[in-house]
Amino acid sequence: MLPEISTLAQLERLDAQTHQLQLRLAELPKVLMAEKKAVEAKKKEVEDLQSRLSANEKERRQIEGDIQLRQSKIKKLRAQIEQAANDTQFQAFQHEIQFAEGEISKGEDRELDLMEEAEGLEPKLKADQSALIEAQKAGLEHFRSAEQEHKKGMAQIGQNAAASRELLAKLSPQYAQLYERLRKKYKTGPILSEPDNGTCGVCQMTLRLAFWQGIKADPDKLWQCEECSRVLVYNPPVMNG
Ligand SMILES: [Zn+2]
Repeated sequence: MLPEISTLAQLERLDAQTHQLQLRLAELPKVLMAEKKAVEAKKKEVEDLQSRLSANEKERRQIEGDIQLRQSKIKKLRAQIEQAANDTQFQAFQHEIQFAEGEISKGEDRELDLMEEAEGLEPKLKADQSALIEAQKAGLEHFRSAEQEHKKGMAQIGQNAAASRELLAKLSPQYAQLYERLRKKYKTGPILSEPDNGTCGVCQMTLRLAFWQGIKADPDKLWQCEECSRVLVYNPPVMNG
């Protein structure tokens, strides 16, 4: 292989690595943002559960207070009923007692429902709270490792750029210009192509037969695909025996 072509191959490898790093570094903030959103959604779930549970507790306390009030009212009514002057008064007290008893019974039913709801919500809240703590911890770790990765990636991109400049400076102007032209045409991806059985290995165009034979006969010359202009690097098969 021509030494210039081997330099082009090194440049191509550096460019490919830089491109991969750039893609990855562009991806990082998106990954972190998606994770942050997931943590926020989990936090909101925990907060919703907490407010449901505290509303539940508040209502239960209200009902308990209400039941106590009605119970002492019933006590008074029972004392009063003893002194009822007539049947109409008696019935009026009786009616009030029945109403209060009915309200107490309704209150107790509601209390049971609320207790059942709280029993269902409490373990869910506990599980969600620990999941949230885990997610926050993981988020922080991922953020830190992303920072490290970003720093390392940027340093590597800088090193690659310096290595490329050095390689380019050593190339003859003809090959340096060829590299620049191909890199301008193909911002990313290969600029070298290994022909395979008479076909350009990258653009897949079938090479003219005479051209292909020329490559095989003189592989140490600069050959460029007539379709895509990439530099064709031919490695003749090793003959055994
Ligand atoms: Zn081609």
